[in-house]
Amino acid sequence: MATDRLPTTLMEAIRYFSDEDVCVQFVASLRWADGPICPRCEGTEHYYLASRRVWKCKDKRCHKQFSVKVGTIFEDSPIKLDKWLCAIWLIANSKNGISSYELGRANGITQKSAWFVLHRIRLAMQTGSFEKFDGEVEVDETFIGGKARNMHADVRKRKIVSGRGGNDKTAVMGARTRDGKVTAAVIGKRTSANVNAFVRDTVEEGATLYTDAYGGYRALGADYEHETIDHAETYVQGQVHTNGIESFWSLLKRGLHGTYISVEPFHLFRYIDERVFTYNNREADDLARFSTVVEAVAGRRLTWQQVTGKG
Ligand SMILES: [Zn+2]
Repeated sequence: MATDRLPTTLMEAIRYFSDEDVCVQFVASLRWADGPICPRCEGTEHYYLASRRVWKCKDKRCHKQFSVKVGTIFEDSPIKLDKWLCAIWLIANSKNGISSYELGRANGITQKSAWFVLHRIRLAMQTGSFEKFDGEVEVDETFIGGKARNMHADVRKRKIVSGRGGNDKTAVMGARTRDGKVTAAVIGKRTSANVNAFVRDTVEEGATLYTDAYGGYRALGADYEHETIDHAETYVQGQVHTNGIESFWSLLKRGLHGTYISVEPFHLFRYIDERVFTYNNREADDLARFSTVVEAVAGRRLTWQQVTGKG
């Protein structure tokens, strides 16, 4: 079965993963490139119990039985792998995201289950190891959410006209290299300290920053080359612009406003992780993007309590 041609479209993926054994083999081959590893003793000798789709460790002191789901985002989930894999296919290959309502209907699971599935998949989409950006780097802030959407039009106008970044909005920072890699994070409030911490975490010292005219960057001092663009006057001065990161913001906002409607600030970083993933993998094909997420399912767990912040 592993020699069958791998799926390249959603239709093919649904057909291909309709066989539970194929799902198990596929996930196993991506998470354990050199064969299954016992989660208890890290032994590599085992039997496969085909009827129960579990491995049994051969180590005499261990004898642990383990499934392909153990230690992954799939652990403890009653949802079968065929539905998980189709959900990953959908979310990894969607430019604007997929709401839990859409996924629930498409997959035949409840909206609540779909919401949890999506958040766990976003965890697998999170960038694992991150290498700081170097060279010419666009850095920018944007503001998401707030209660403006529920306000009366007059009030909303007043609030929005009063400038970028009202107090009820969450500040998000992003950086983009000139070859098109993006990183972004929620910083809470736009303060000089938060902005500088983001830059130091994501950009190598000595790199050239292109930013807007926000004064908070000045505290970075001589550690970076720094060019600013004053949006009150112009948007581009030769190389000096932030158009790349701004196009990422419009993508993020399109997803947040169109697909997800309202996102609580607590969950915002997960939607950002999702958009960063699809953006940074935009040149890959659907199968490659899907496989990148499946490869990252191991070593990541997310419980209902963690995802909801309850308990
Ligand atoms: Zn073992």
